[in-house]
Amino acid sequence: MKLVNKERKENGLPPLSVTEKLQKANDVRAKEISQVFSHTRPDGSACFTALSEAGESYSFAGENIAAGQASPESVMDSWMNSEGHRANILSKDFTHMGIGYYYNKDGSYRYYWTQMFTGACTLDSISVEGASKITSYKKGTSIAGMNRVLVLECQHGTSYLPLTSDLCSGYKKDTTGTQTIKISYQGKTASFQVKVVKPVSISKAKVTNIKTKTYNGKAQTQSPKVVLDGKVLKKGTDYTLSYKNNKKVGTATVIITGKGKYSGTITKNFKIKGK
Ligand SMILES: [Zn+2]
Repeated sequence: MKLVNKERKENGLPPLSVTEKLQKANDVRAKEISQVFSHTRPDGSACFTALSEAGESYSFAGENIAAGQASPESVMDSWMNSEGHRANILSKDFTHMGIGYYYNKDGSYRYYWTQMFTGACTLDSISVEGASKITSYKKGTSIAGMNRVLVLECQHGTSYLPLTSDLCSGYKKDTTGTQTIKISYQGKTASFQVKVVKPVSISKAKVTNIKTKTYNGKAQTQSPKVVLDGKVLKKGTDYTLSYKNNKKVGTATVIITGKGKYSGTITKNFKIKGK
């Protein structure tokens, strides 16, 4: 979706948003094209009947399909180099899109991709998810790095669009303090507030609840308790976890990396015993 919206931006077109129904139709189609690689469905009906089945209404629709490409980048590359597919991606008649991916290790192409587009529509309103709360970000965080989502309402229901800097104004990533970021999209506006703070290093946090694990053929993970200055930090919001050597017997490492207003890392070793 980011790749599609990047191409559209470079061509002066507004980004597309995704609806849950459209996404559902793409899941169905990705599986179907692994059986019959065609815009005609295995039951003989046209691909767009998958949209109606999912409850998605539309006046324009388009479908791109591909098979064999192992990454989103390579499939986008194939589509952008093919006139009809490129025309769908860069159509101004579309406002929504969904993406389907299906992996079938026994299929002749193994990787199956779909993109379905619908349009057109007029927006009723836009808002930023979680805008009622002021979230803190460390100095230097980009808009994309905030992972915020724009929520759009139109006759097709609710759709979602990852926020990017080109939709926003008023943000100074290196200025600390509370800021209001304004969003303008398809003639509608919204705003949300953020607090830009100096990053707090988590390197002095106290980490407990690291356990010895027993090998069972799977990756071994931890649920550490991370406490900094008396405050219990939250996984996902304040830090993320990654691992080294956690799929075999021996010494494994969990790496705690600061997120949001926190920076820095802490590494802790743990043992994985044989059965
Ligand atoms: Zn719509």
